Amino acid sequence: MATDYDAIIVGGGHNGLVAAAYLARSGARTLVLEARQKTGGAATTEAPWPDAPDFRVTRLSYVMSLLPPTIIADLQLAKHGYKIFPMGPYYQAFPEGGSIKLYADDAKRNHEEISRWSKQDADAMPRWDAWLAGLAEVLGPLLLTVPPNIGSRSPRDLKETLRLAWRHRDLDVRTIADVTRLMTMSIADLLDDWFESPQVKGALAVNGVIGTWAGPYEPGTAYVMAHHSIGDVGDGHLGSWGFQEGGMGAVADAIAMAARENGAEIRTGASVKQVLLKDGRASGVVLENGQQIKAKIVVSSLHPRTAFLDHVGRQNLPDSFVEDIQHWKSRSGVVKINLALAELPDFTADPGTNLAEHHTGSVEMAPTMPYIERAFTDAREGRPAQRPFSDGVIPTAFDQTLCPEGYHIMSLFTQWVPSDWNTQPHTEELQAYADRMIDCYNEVAPNFKSSILHADVVGPYEMEHDYGLIGGNIFHGELSLEQLFHMRPAPGYADYRTPVPGLYNASSATHGGGGVCGIPGMQAARAAIADRRAALRGPAQAIRRARHR
Ligand SMILES: Cc1cc2nc3c(=O)[nH]c(=O)nc-3n(C[C@H](O)[C@H](O)[C@H](O)COP(=O)(O)OP(=O)(O)OC[C@H]3O[C@@H](n4cnc5c(N)ncnc54)[C@H](O)[C@@H]3O)c2cc1C
Repeated sequence: MATDYDAIIVGGGHNGLVAAAYLARSGARTLVLEARQKTGGAATTEAPWPDAPDFRVTRLSYVMSLLPPTIIADLQLAKHGYKIFPMGPYYQAFPEGGSIKLYADDAKRNHEEISRWSKQDADAMPRWDAWLAGLAEVLGPLLLTVPPNIGSRSPRDLKETLRLAWRHRDLDVRTIADVTRLMTMSIADLLDDWFESPQVKGALAVNGVIGTWAGPYEPGTAYVMAHHSIGDVGDGHLGSWGFQEGGMGAVADAIAMAARENGAEIRTGASVKQVLLKDGRASGVVLENGQQIKAKIVVSSLHPRTAFLDHVGRQNLPDSFVEDIQHWKSRSGVVKINLALAELPDFTADPGTNLAEHHTGSVEMAPTMPYIERAFTDAREGRPAQRPFSDGVIPTAFDQTLCPEGYHIMSLFTQWVPSDWNTQPHTEELQAYADRMIDCYNEVAPNFKSSILHADVVGPYEMEHDYGLIGGNIFHGELSLEQLFHMRPAPGYADYRTPVPGLYNASSATHGGGGVCGIPGMQAARAAIADRRAALRGPAQAIRRARHR
């Protein structure tokens, strides 16, 4: 096995694989090192039940929206099996009776649906959609912008900051005010300004708390909603989401194929213990088994605490940076519940076990804002939610590859358990929590509990210890305001470079992440390729690039 490369990627999650594909495409001899026996990280399809190997689940992440068309095209992912089924409507059946459906792309049907709960809200919905679309025009391109080093007086950084300001010179007072609202308000306060019915507000609040250690009344949750609402699956509908055929592992597999086709080598079962330094620069890595592998470029796609504090070492990093990484917030409280079903849920509000439109989108258990808030308050007070909220999906409504015909897979993304459940397995309590979650669905679909053939419950401890998601946080770090843009993951280092020359950061904890979006992987590779080209052009160029830090 070779021990000398141009570039080493630590971590074979989808971001590491994206970085590898771009670096290999640029001509760098590239090696990916993945600790687990398979690549994909949190984008993984697995068969969790040994006695039912034909049932496969998308074990952690479950729906696509955020992967930019640039990456899909650059890496020719469609050729490698990237195939998305756009999801059906948002659906909530209410415990007190009735249901609501919301469509990403059908204003007329939205009006009919919402009118059943509030005529005023039905009229407000097109204005809300237009408002969000306007904001997405501002925020969408920002996701692909390398954040400038705000506050730095170096001419290069000042130029980048001014360039960003100039790009936004057409923004008017109202748009700036709307962006300010979005960045600072709670999703609850924002929705109160627009809508009156608890049912509609509950439906729209879900995206504000997904993956977040914050209830809907916390400032900043309006932005989380926007983060989940500015992608599209390539069908041109803002905020639309879709199912990858074969589950999310197939997304990672498509990227891995692109990386290999470009010449990258991928090793699994290869856990990195340390990043090697020579004269203050990254010079390779040491594996857990003691093997050393050399490369002038090291790209780490791991959680910042692992990448920097464990692999580089505090003694090799500036004190202020160490402090920033120590304070990096990665709380969670997410529990993923994967189910194999003998039949589809038979909702009292929309009866029948034959496949219907309301089975094809998100099948929610988040009936109102106070319901969601209660689930968070329980966890913040140190108890698992009595009635958790769930973003449920049934990918087998489209995807026949995940289980035998006639059966279904349902994925429940649920919140919250206490934020310290990453430190202990809490196996029995997690099972009780999952049972309560299932009971909540059973109240609105009485066949639900009896239809469950197998259940797989993944809590924060397993996410941290088996998948490297420290704290169980799904994004390698919360999407709270102080951890966004030029602060992600630390001030001065949001450009995918790090305090160690030659070491780049492709983690979801950088700007553009998290989610299965590949942006950190692409941007880290671009930074590494630019620096490598500068170095190849001559020492003067390389020194000029390095001096701006
Ligand atoms: C329950 C859950 C649900 C989610 N749902 C969605 C969703 O529906 N849609 C969406 O867009 N996003 C979702 N996300 C978020 C998304 O999955 C992640 O943000 C994204 O997959 C992270 O990708 P990554 O490549 O940055 O990191 P990871 O996927 O965490 O990959 C890092 C890789 O590094 C490996 N590794 C760790 N330590 C070492 C080491 N020492 N040496 C070598 N390798 C190592 C890990 O095994 C892992 O493979 C979800 C996440 C979770 C957990």
